[in-house]
Amino acid sequence: MSTPTLVIATANSHKVEEITALLSSLLPGFSSASVATMADFDVDSPVEDGLTFADNALTKARHLAQQTQLPALADDSGISVAALGGSPGVFSARWAGRHGDDEANLNLLLAQLSDVSDEHRAAKFVCAVALALPDGTEVVTEGTVEGRLARSPRGKGGFGYDPIFIPRGFDRTTAELTPAEKNSISHRSRAIRAMAPHLAELIG
Ligand code: IMP
Repeated sequence: MSTPTLVIATANSHKVEEITALLSSLLPGFSSASVATMADFDVDSPVEDGLTFADNALTKARHLAQQTQLPALADDSGISVAALGGSPGVFSARWAGRHGDDEANLNLLLAQLSDVSDEHRAAKFVCAVALALPDGTEVVTEGTVEGRLARSPRGKGGFGYDPIFIPRGFDRTTAELTPAEKNSISHRSRAIRAMAPHLAELIG
């Protein structure tokens, strides 16, 4: 492997592809050859115990930059429901108790909102992206997509809470959008787009 410019704090190949494709379209000279992932290094994962998406993204990026001595990029995301005071928030992946049980998480959220009327079902997906350099320089950007929660799951695409999230301006859930439609409005792509100029400035 030639020396990468950036290491991404995930072993999730789908996420790596999505981030690499987006950055390649935004940054001249950037390509998949510029990127390494956690899978390329013998590194461990830090405990994600922050109370904000930005804190958790920074913890992951900082930890990886220190371990690899390369610029590191990390993201953290989730869903925030107005009627629940912003929860599940950073607990989105383990809302029903077991990390990554998407179906249980979604069903619990629907049950909690069963008597909440349509006009009070506002929600948003939020993503924080953090860049940490080995010299201690740090930048965080955020992207959101506003919408509302459906009353029952619809659609087969995406993951997590996609079957119950209807973005503003659509009457379909994000699980019913094509991947291109979802990427064009997603919280993650908005946070990455906001990060691109910082990457251009700090790592060339
Ligand atoms: P992570 O940042 O990939 O760990 O995502 C945290 C959790 O937030 C996931 O397990 C999902 O439950 C939820 N989530 C984050 N982004 C999305 C999305 O684009 N669609 C649906 N659920 C999401």
